[in-house]
Amino acid sequence: MKVPFVDLKAQYATIKSEIDEAMNCVVNDCAFIKGKYVAQFEEDFAAYLGAKFCIGCGNGTDALEIALNALGVGQGDEVIVPANTFIATSEAVTANGGTPVFCDIDPQTYNLDVDLLAAKITPQTKAIIVVHLYGQPADMDPILNLAKQHNLRVIEDSAQAHGAQYGGQKIGTLGDIATFSFFPGKNLGAYGDGGAVITNNEELATRSRMIANHGRVDKYDHIFEGRNSRLDGLQAAILSVKLRHLDSWSLARREAAKQYSELLSGSTLITPYVPQWATPVFHLYVVRTENREHIREALNEKGIASGIHYPIALPFLRAYKRFGHTPDDFPVAYAQMDTILSLPLFPEITSEQIAYVVETLRAVT
Ligand SMILES: *Cc1c(COP(=O)(O)O)cnc(C)c1O
Repeated sequence: MKVPFVDLKAQYATIKSEIDEAMNCVVNDCAFIKGKYVAQFEEDFAAYLGAKFCIGCGNGTDALEIALNALGVGQGDEVIVPANTFIATSEAVTANGGTPVFCDIDPQTYNLDVDLLAAKITPQTKAIIVVHLYGQPADMDPILNLAKQHNLRVIEDSAQAHGAQYGGQKIGTLGDIATFSFFPGKNLGAYGDGGAVITNNEELATRSRMIANHGRVDKYDHIFEGRNSRLDGLQAAILSVKLRHLDSWSLARREAAKQYSELLSGSTLITPYVPQWATPVFHLYVVRTENREHIREALNEKGIASGIHYPIALPFLRAYKRFGHTPDDFPVAYAQMDTILSLPLFPEITSEQIAYVVETLRAVT
């Protein structure tokens, strides 16, 4: 039996007629850039989240850059980001002229360690980027309280958590502004690149839309220099179709995760911790083990794919050598680099596939 890490072909097979029809409509209308399909998806996604504004853009990295720019992050500003996330989170800070300040993660949830946040705040701190990593909502209430006390903006990098909830509220609607990626492998994935900025603040929405469209208010009337970052019509139409299935896919992900956790209970593997206020969407199912390389090899031999998210925590990347960080600065993120392992999980994964993965794991742990 083969178990891929994700199976986009299996997913396409379940929605083929809807997707093909949607793509045909866009091509027939030649509504490639802007137009009704983009407007419709923006409306659909905002409504789904319970947010006022959605601005489609080129990808999740652009979304972060645009959101930070809209908030006014620039030269000399510090932005706190978690030590373990994808580099796009911190790249967007640097791209705006700011400095990313890393904060270690919680050993149970793998999200920002709220107890360490306050010590990272300086007079230069402008914002905190919260990442809902692996589809697990971060603990927003204490973060929002701290941000309020220090007059900091909060950005939710929601690239891995479409539809996840914090205390019954969709993530992406809790901070000042949020960003999503629709990279094909994300929980809501396009058939190419795509991204979105979400906010309830009209001023931030207007600014974000202008930044993504050359700073323009009207054709050839540009009031500042922006950039070109857009969601295209084909991706938008595909996303509108897929959005209708997102909740059932999230449920399937939670059920697969539950099956893994039940079958792995009592083993030496540490399975994901889900706080009582969280409704996660398991973009990834990440376990911890002291024996990772041996386990990875055994899985590989049995045709089972696995991943590591991420093998090098941000402060230790060569790209951030300039900060001169040492393992002692981020002990949790550092220790996890050698112990975390992402198992295959996608909505279409079968119980047989999960049982096979667990059987293989049990044989080597
Ligand atoms: C995927 C991802 C991004 C970037 O999204 P792209 O669409 O690939 O640019 C940003 N942040 C996190 C946490 C991600 O997982």
